[in-house]
Amino acid sequence: MCYKHQFYGIASHRCVQMTPTLRCNQRCLFCWRSFEHEYPGERDLLPEEILARVAALQKRALSGYKPSPYVTPERFAEALDPTHVAISLSGEPTLYPHLPALIDLFSREGFSTFLVTNGTRPDVLARCRPFQTYVSLTAPDAGTYRKVCRPLEDTWEAVQESLSLLGTRRSAVRITLVKGYNDFSPGSYARMIQDSGATFVEVKGYMFLGYSRKRLERGNMPTFAHVKEFAEHIAAACDYEVRDENPASRVVCMGRRQ
Ligand code: SF4
Repeated sequence: MCYKHQFYGIASHRCVQMTPTLRCNQRCLFCWRSFEHEYPGERDLLPEEILARVAALQKRALSGYKPSPYVTPERFAEALDPTHVAISLSGEPTLYPHLPALIDLFSREGFSTFLVTNGTRPDVLARCRPFQTYVSLTAPDAGTYRKVCRPLEDTWEAVQESLSLLGTRRSAVRITLVKGYNDFSPGSYARMIQDSGATFVEVKGYMFLGYSRKRLERGNMPTFAHVKEFAEHIAAACDYEVRDENPASRVVCMGRRQ
């Protein structure tokens, strides 16, 4: 089980982690994917085509777990029958042209859905109805955003607009903290979070993984103590409080004070 089980009750072994597109309009320093070697021949599938392949691809993703001493036969059988879809990973999902329809299709088929977006396309986000919406907020100001996320266009205002959509839906603001890059001005983060009205806030430490290792250094990974302290500084400046934590994933979950 991952921290999403702990925070939100998601059955992690029944969660399909997927992306409908590998394209992205940002070049975040902390991204684990390789935008240095982008695949140019991507074709957008229809929502029905994606749904039709989910079961087989999830089965492939589970290869090797069946004989593991850590996996019971019951849990393996459950994992083959997923109930949740996390739309994120490698690419910006709002660049997929059929995203609202894909989410609606997953919902009709009985899946609960998490959508994770970088917030650069509020017009698309406004039309999406996932169970829980995540918007990334990875800088306290526009200049830091340009330096850390390296957007292809100047989309800071678009991110602000996406944040403004969160107050009326089940939602989370995701802060990926990169030591030495965006771990300052907790009061500015607090102001934007407060204005968003999001249900939850996750402050999570950057992980030195994948292609991000070519852009950052291991020392840019904040310790869990640093992540927690930063979350507490944010909480002190707005109506949110620390609700839960998972030191192994270096993440803290905050919620609005009642
Ligand atoms: S927005 Fe997400 S997928 Fe795009 S570069 Fe940043 S971390 Fe990677």
